[in-house]
Amino acid sequence: MLGTGIIKGMAQTAKNFVGSYRDEQYLTTVQYPEQRIPAKENNRNFPFLVFDGEEAMPGLRCVACQICEKECPPQCIYIEKDKNKKPDYVGKAQVQPLVFDIDISVCMSCQICVEVCPFDAIKMDTEFELSQTDRFGGLLLDKHQLAKSNTYYREIHPTEAAAIDQTREEDVKKAAAKAAAKAKADAEKAAAKAKADAEKAAAEESSSETGGSEAT
Ligand code: SF4
Ligand code: SF4
Repeated sequence: MLGTGIIKGMAQTAKNFVGSYRDEQYLTTVQYPEQRIPAKENNRNFPFLVFDGEEAMPGLRCVACQICEKECPPQCIYIEKDKNKKPDYVGKAQVQPLVFDIDISVCMSCQICVEVCPFDAIKMDTEFELSQTDRFGGLLLDKHQLAKSNTYYREIHPTEAAAIDQTREEDVKKAAAKAAAKAKADAEKAAAKAKADAEKAAAEESSSETGGSEAT
Protein backbone atom coordinates (compact mmCIF):
# COMPACT_ATOMS: atom_id res chain seq x y z
CA MET A 1 0.00 0.00 0.00
CA LEU A 2 1.25 3.45 -0.87
CA GLY A 3 2.65 5.33 2.15
CA THR A 4 3.18 2.25 4.35
CA GLY A 5 6.79 3.27 5.03
CA ILE A 6 5.73 6.74 6.14
CA ILE A 7 3.12 5.31 8.50
CA LYS A 8 5.66 2.86 9.97
CA GLY A 9 8.20 5.65 10.45
CA MET A 10 5.65 7.89 12.20
CA ALA A 11 4.55 4.99 14.39
CA GLN A 12 8.18 4.42 15.43
CA THR A 13 8.59 8.14 16.16
CA ALA A 14 5.44 8.13 18.29
CA LYS A 15 6.63 5.01 20.11
CA ASN A 16 9.99 6.64 20.87
CA PHE A 17 8.33 9.89 21.97
CA VAL A 18 5.92 8.24 24.40
CA GLY A 19 8.45 5.64 25.52
CA SER A 20 11.12 8.26 26.28
CA TYR A 21 9.00 9.45 29.26
CA ARG A 22 9.41 6.10 30.98
CA ASP A 23 12.66 4.60 29.60
CA GLU A 24 15.89 6.32 28.47
CA GLN A 25 16.57 3.68 25.81
CA TYR A 26 13.87 5.36 23.68
CA LEU A 27 15.80 8.63 23.60
CA THR A 28 17.34 8.96 20.14
CA THR A 29 19.11 12.26 20.78
CA VAL A 30 21.51 13.52 23.47
CA GLN A 31 22.13 16.94 24.99
CA TYR A 32 25.15 17.86 22.85
CA PRO A 33 27.77 19.21 23.61
CA GLU A 34 27.45 18.15 27.27
CA GLN A 35 26.63 14.62 26.16
CA ARG A 36 28.13 12.82 23.18
CA ILE A 37 27.30 9.59 21.43
CA PRO A 38 30.54 7.59 21.04
CA ALA A 39 31.68 7.49 17.42
CA LYS A 40 31.14 4.22 15.57
CA GLU A 41 34.27 2.35 14.59
CA ASN A 42 33.70 2.81 10.87
CA ASN A 43 33.01 6.52 11.26
CA ARG A 44 35.39 8.77 9.31
CA ASN A 45 36.07 12.44 8.87
CA PHE A 46 39.53 13.65 7.81
CA PRO A 47 42.84 11.79 7.54
CA PHE A 48 45.67 11.80 10.09
CA LEU A 49 49.21 10.42 10.04
CA VAL A 50 49.94 7.48 12.35
CA PHE A 51 53.16 7.38 14.37
CA ASP A 52 54.60 4.54 16.45
CA GLY A 53 56.21 4.99 19.85
CA GLU A 54 56.25 8.10 21.98
CA GLU A 55 57.70 10.71 19.62
CA ALA A 56 55.65 11.86 16.66
CA MET A 57 58.20 12.86 14.04
CA PRO A 58 60.71 10.00 14.51
CA GLY A 59 57.81 7.54 14.71
CA LEU A 60 55.88 8.63 11.61
CA ARG A 61 55.09 5.65 9.43
CA CYS A 62 54.92 7.78 6.28
CA VAL A 63 57.82 7.25 3.87
CA ALA A 64 56.84 10.14 1.60
CA CYS A 65 56.18 7.83 -1.37
CA GLN A 66 53.63 10.40 -2.56
CA ILE A 67 51.12 7.79 -3.77
CA CYS A 68 48.34 9.39 -1.72
CA GLU A 69 49.26 12.82 -3.08
CA LYS A 70 48.90 11.56 -6.65
CA GLU A 71 45.67 9.65 -5.99
CA CYS A 72 43.82 12.26 -3.92
CA PRO A 73 40.90 13.32 -6.18
CA PRO A 74 40.75 17.02 -5.15
CA GLN A 75 44.57 17.20 -4.82
CA CYS A 76 44.52 18.51 -1.27
CA ILE A 77 47.69 16.66 -0.10
CA TYR A 78 51.08 18.31 -0.50
CA ILE A 79 54.29 16.37 0.24
CA GLU A 80 57.99 17.18 0.04
CA LYS A 81 60.60 14.51 0.71
CA ASP A 82 63.29 14.85 3.35
CA LYS A 83 66.73 13.81 2.05
CA ASN A 84 67.63 12.45 5.51
CA LYS A 85 66.41 8.92 5.96
CA LYS A 86 65.29 7.32 9.22
CA PRO A 87 64.86 3.67 10.24
CA ASP A 88 61.37 2.24 9.94
CA TYR A 89 59.75 -0.32 12.26
CA VAL A 90 61.92 -3.17 10.94
CA GLY A 91 65.07 -1.06 11.02
CA LYS A 92 65.23 -0.35 7.28
CA ALA A 93 66.34 3.17 6.29
CA GLN A 94 63.35 4.96 4.78
CA VAL A 95 62.64 8.36 3.31
CA GLN A 96 60.47 10.61 5.48
CA PRO A 97 58.31 13.63 4.70
CA LEU A 98 59.86 17.04 5.15
CA VAL A 99 56.49 18.61 4.41
CA PHE A 100 53.16 16.81 4.59
CA ASP A 101 50.12 19.09 4.44
CA ILE A 102 46.46 18.34 3.98
CA ASP A 103 43.97 21.09 3.25
CA ILE A 104 40.92 19.77 5.07
CA SER A 105 38.81 22.62 3.70
CA VAL A 106 39.16 20.79 0.35
CA CYS A 107 39.30 17.17 1.56
CA MET A 108 36.09 15.29 0.78
CA SER A 109 36.71 12.41 3.24
CA CYS A 110 36.74 9.83 0.44
CA GLN A 111 39.45 7.72 2.19
CA ILE A 112 41.26 7.00 -1.09
CA CYS A 113 44.54 8.17 0.49
CA VAL A 114 44.08 5.51 3.19
CA GLU A 115 43.29 2.76 0.72
CA VAL A 116 46.30 3.43 -1.52
CA CYS A 117 48.88 3.84 1.27
CA PRO A 118 51.12 0.73 1.30
CA PHE A 119 52.52 1.55 4.75
CA ASP A 120 49.36 1.97 6.89
CA ALA A 121 50.65 5.46 7.53
CA ILE A 122 47.49 7.47 6.95
CA LYS A 123 44.11 6.71 8.49
CA MET A 124 40.75 8.41 8.86
CA ASP A 125 40.05 10.31 12.05
CA THR A 126 36.69 10.51 13.80
CA GLU A 127 37.31 14.02 15.15
CA PHE A 128 34.65 16.41 13.85
CA GLU A 129 34.85 19.54 16.04
CA LEU A 130 37.29 21.34 13.75
CA SER A 131 35.69 24.75 13.28
CA GLN A 132 38.14 27.62 12.80
CA THR A 133 38.00 31.36 12.57
CA ASP A 134 40.78 31.25 9.95
CA ARG A 135 39.04 29.60 7.02
CA PHE A 136 42.17 29.01 4.94
CA GLY A 137 45.31 28.80 7.12
CA GLY A 138 43.44 27.22 10.03
CA LEU A 139 42.28 24.29 7.94
CA LEU A 140 45.63 23.65 6.26
CA LEU A 141 47.12 21.03 8.59
CA ASP A 142 50.85 20.25 8.60
CA LYS A 143 52.55 17.00 9.60
CA HIS A 144 52.79 18.07 13.26
CA GLN A 145 49.05 18.70 13.43
CA LEU A 146 48.25 15.57 11.44
CA ALA A 147 50.43 13.21 13.53
CA LYS A 148 48.52 11.01 15.99
CA SER A 149 49.77 7.98 17.86
CA ASN A 150 49.03 4.35 17.12
CA THR A 151 47.51 4.23 20.61
CA TYR A 152 44.94 6.81 19.47
CA TYR A 153 44.36 4.83 16.26
CA ARG A 154 43.70 1.71 18.36
CA GLU A 155 41.13 3.67 20.39
CA ILE A 156 39.12 4.89 17.42
CA HIS A 157 39.47 1.91 15.03
CA PRO A 158 40.38 -1.04 17.30
CA THR A 159 39.62 -3.85 14.87
CA GLU A 160 41.65 -2.63 11.90
CA ALA A 161 44.45 -1.28 14.13
CA ALA A 162 44.80 -4.68 15.83
CA ALA A 163 45.03 -6.44 12.44
CA ILE A 164 47.74 -4.00 11.30
CA ASP A 165 49.65 -4.36 14.60
CA GLN A 166 49.64 -8.12 14.18
CA THR A 167 50.97 -7.92 10.60
CA ARG A 168 53.68 -5.51 11.69
CA GLU A 169 54.68 -7.73 14.62
CA GLU A 170 55.07 -10.62 12.18
CA ASP A 171 57.17 -8.40 9.90
CA VAL A 172 59.41 -7.48 12.86
CA LYS A 173 59.84 -11.18 13.73
CA LYS A 174 60.63 -12.05 10.11
CA ALA A 175 63.15 -9.18 9.89
CA ALA A 176 64.79 -10.30 13.17
CA ALA A 177 64.99 -13.91 11.93
CA LYS A 178 66.46 -12.74 8.61
CA ALA A 179 69.03 -10.55 10.40
CA ALA A 180 69.96 -13.44 12.73
CA ALA A 181 70.33 -15.83 9.76
CA LYS A 182 72.50 -13.28 7.93
CA ALA A 183 74.67 -12.72 11.02
CA LYS A 184 75.09 -16.49 11.38
CA ALA A 185 75.96 -16.92 7.68
CA ASP A 186 78.43 -14.01 7.88
CA ALA A 187 80.06 -15.53 10.99
CA GLU A 188 80.34 -18.95 9.29
CA LYS A 189 81.78 -17.32 6.17
CA ALA A 190 84.31 -15.37 8.24
CA ALA A 191 85.30 -18.53 10.17
CA ALA A 192 85.69 -20.51 6.92
CA LYS A 193 87.82 -17.71 5.45
CA ALA A 194 89.98 -17.55 8.58
CA LYS A 195 90.45 -21.31 8.47
CA ALA A 196 91.35 -21.23 4.76
CA ASP A 197 93.78 -18.36 5.37
CA ALA A 198 95.41 -20.26 8.25
CA GLU A 199 95.73 -23.41 6.11
CA LYS A 200 97.20 -21.41 3.24
CA ALA A 201 99.69 -19.71 5.57
CA ALA A 202 100.66 -23.08 7.07
CA ALA A 203 101.13 -24.57 3.58
CA GLU A 204 103.29 -21.61 2.49
CA GLU A 205 105.38 -21.88 5.65
CA SER A 206 105.85 -25.62 5.14
CA SER A 207 106.83 -25.18 1.47
CA SER A 208 109.35 -22.45 2.36
CA GLU A 209 110.90 -24.71 5.02
CA THR A 210 111.14 -27.60 2.48
CA GLY A 211 112.68 -25.29 -0.12
CA GLY A 212 115.24 -24.06 2.46
CA SER A 213 116.34 -27.55 3.51
CA GLU A 214 116.70 -28.66 -0.19
CA ALA A 215 118.93 -25.63 -0.86
CA THR A 216 121.21 -26.62 2.07
S1 SF4 B 1 40.21 11.59 2.17
FE1 SF4 B 1 40.15 11.77 -0.08
S2 SF4 B 1 40.07 13.96 -0.45
FE2 SF4 B 1 40.72 13.70 1.69
S3 SF4 B 1 42.97 13.73 1.59
FE3 SF4 B 1 42.33 11.58 1.43
S4 SF4 B 1 42.19 11.18 -0.79
FE4 SF4 B 1 42.24 13.40 -0.51
S1 SF4 C 1 50.83 8.54 3.71
FE1 SF4 C 1 51.29 6.56 2.77
S2 SF4 C 1 50.88 6.84 0.58
FE2 SF4 C 1 51.02 8.88 1.50
S3 SF4 C 1 53.16 9.48 1.19
FE3 SF4 C 1 52.99 8.57 3.23
S4 SF4 C 1 53.53 6.40 2.93
FE4 SF4 C 1 53.05 7.25 0.91
